[in-house]
Amino acid sequence: MKRISIEGQTAVITGAGRGIGRGIAEEFARAGADLALNDYNPIPDDLVEFVKSEGRRVVTIQADVSKTSDCERIIETAVKELGRLDILVNNAGITRDGLLMRMDEAQWDTVLAVNLKSVFACSRAAVKHMVRARKGAIVSISSIVGIIGNAGQCNYAASKAGIIGFSKSLARELGGRNIRVNMVAPGFITSDMTNALDEKTRERVLANVPLGTFGQIADVANAVLWLASPLASYITGAVLQVDGGMAM
Ligand code: NAP
Repeated sequence: MKRISIEGQTAVITGAGRGIGRGIAEEFARAGADLALNDYNPIPDDLVEFVKSEGRRVVTIQADVSKTSDCERIIETAVKELGRLDILVNNAGITRDGLLMRMDEAQWDTVLAVNLKSVFACSRAAVKHMVRARKGAIVSISSIVGIIGNAGQCNYAASKAGIIGFSKSLARELGGRNIRVNMVAPGFITSDMTNALDEKTRERVLANVPLGTFGQIADVANAVLWLASPLASYITGAVLQVDGGMAM
């Protein structure tokens, strides 16, 4: 089977230690990219070994993306260690669910800082290098919840909708510099985040998915890879929904 290639490119992926971020890292390594992998906790050794076994260079950066100085350190370390930066994947994200009337300020602030402020801070740091190189691709992980909303997730939905407004604006700012800015909006993907849902919620969700199943991490990783690759060279400001038709 012919694979998408990003051979020789370098990519930063945030929240790459597990879940979708890890899936993206594995897919990018298979596609030929050298990787700077960030996570709040240490990146697992077996992921580092996998990237190396694909013949790629890898640097790991333990950092909290809710802190602007940490985001800057991620990008600067990546450029220093790998020599350049072609692709940024803003993947790190959390939920702190609750109905609005019971949501405290910390639930709001934490989710907005990890999910949205990080996208601002990492993108701003990355763009400095991409503008100089007159080349780059940013892909941020939004969510269909940012498009259609979800009761109990006002904070999360606001952060994911914020990513869309931010990215479309940045796509307009940077189009003339040969830097593309796109988003992937997953629906319900089998991962630690969705495994935490109770059975009733899972059944309710599936009833609204035309393809009738939860998505797999690889479905999201493939979409991110495609948007980051030269195959999507005329695409910017786009939100690619990977949701089994849920939010059409
Ligand atoms: P996950 O399994 O919970 O993994 C999230 C990753 O982000 C973890 O590796 C986590 O690190 C990392 N992270 C959390 N806070 C961080 C911080 N402050 N600094 C650095 N890294 C941090 O979630 P997932 O399902 O893979 O989700 C990945 C992205 O897809 C998120 O943006 C999420 O909102 C989005 N998404 C997921 C779904 C879905 O159905 N799963 C649907 C739509 C959108 P630790 O392990 O060290 O805590």
